[in-house]
Amino acid sequence: MIVMKFGGTSVESAGAIERVAGIVRSRLERHPVVVVSAMGKTTNKLLEIARTAISGKREEFLRLIHDLRAFHSREARLVVPLADRAELDRTLDDIFQELTELVKGLAVVGELTPRVTDAISSYGERLSSYIVTLAFRHFGLPAKHIDSRRVIVTDRRHTHASPHFEETYRRLNNVIAPLANDQVVVMGGFIGATEEGVTSTLGRGGSDFTAAIVGAGIGAEEIQIWTDVDGMLTADPTIFPGGHRVKTISFAEAAELAYFGAKVLHPATVVPAVEKNIPVLILNSRRPDVEGTRIVSERVPCANAVKSIACKRRITVVNIHSNSMLMAHGFLRRIFEIFERHETAVDMVSTSEVSVSLTIDNAERLDLIRAELERFSDVQLEPGQTIICLVGDNIRYTPGVAARIFGALGSVNARMISQGASLLNLSFVIDDADVRRTVAALHHEFFRDLDASVFE
Ligand code: ASP
Ligand code: MG
Repeated sequence: MIVMKFGGTSVESAGAIERVAGIVRSRLERHPVVVVSAMGKTTNKLLEIARTAISGKREEFLRLIHDLRAFHSREARLVVPLADRAELDRTLDDIFQELTELVKGLAVVGELTPRVTDAISSYGERLSSYIVTLAFRHFGLPAKHIDSRRVIVTDRRHTHASPHFEETYRRLNNVIAPLANDQVVVMGGFIGATEEGVTSTLGRGGSDFTAAIVGAGIGAEEIQIWTDVDGMLTADPTIFPGGHRVKTISFAEAAELAYFGAKVLHPATVVPAVEKNIPVLILNSRRPDVEGTRIVSERVPCANAVKSIACKRRITVVNIHSNSMLMAHGFLRRIFEIFERHETAVDMVSTSEVSVSLTIDNAERLDLIRAELERFSDVQLEPGQTIICLVGDNIRYTPGVAARIFGALGSVNARMISQGASLLNLSFVIDDADVRRTVAALHHEFFRDLDASVFE
């Protein structure tokens, strides 16, 4: 058995769904279980409907629901057999009727709780999984729809629920595994339900997490994440177009890359796969013949010191100076408490005798944070910075990597240099204006000669 997860762009239209059916058909003998995201930008649209409802704009939310229905109906009719059209229309009627009632209720109450947010945002995957099932049948696949809320059991932390793994694995094993013998099970990602049966979601982008949970639960031999890129590259193609595909990478390396900007996969999502030692593949649904990137539990031997260069752009460096207090105990705690209270994540930290520098990605609450910090320190902000992060398990074993990095940087000023506890990354901050030439220079330095067993 394998799990095949298709993201929003992979199922965004009738044409995309047809492509997906072809990809699944070519892997039928491996007994695929298919996990799908909502079609295209549906989740965002549902959340917009919810926001419109609480601000009392009745005509607008009714129009948005109407548009969403028209979109799903139009695409679905192109891939659903004539014989199933009546059933399709009936089901879409029911689903959208239910959604409309829920949203009207929300408009009356005027308060959007996390629980109601989940109820509304769940419709994207409920629709996509149902439509993809009918489409698969149209294309001759023996598809079977399973409502994920029957098998993914979560806690009650709505909008970012965590699964109760034991019970979830038990159900997946009992319900999904036997079906997958002779049918293609199709389930929605992202959604689940509490023990009481209340709809919950695993957080934005949660379909990858669903795929990993399902893979772990049924003991899949592989989890395939089908997306719209060829896999992980040695550099972000929007910054440096000459990168190479990384054929194999370890989970630990992939996690570092994800923290620092490579948006292919969030590290937390693959934990269930790591625990069960199940490889995860990143594949491109527009170019299914490309081998993609294989993420594995063990170390990946490689002749190159670095496997990939990630960038996190447009971050803000916050410099905090205090002459009197810095080395006093409790100072750092006091600083971090402020960021914590404002729910603002800190990515990098570096300290000296009289100052602390840290970087944040989300500057939304920075004015409030700054005001609080200024009660006991001087604060200086530097927006428009970029974190550059070189990742590779070999960094720790290869002497002279830092010298090569700073040699390649030339006149570019690097600050907040840090090597994480895992020792497999080296990161620093530069001015965003220098990002292209910096990545190009580093790429030239570290990927001039390639280990053909790891890169293509
Ligand atoms: N549809 C959900 C989202 O947009 C989950 C996912 O696509 O992974 O966040
Ligand atoms: Mg995604």
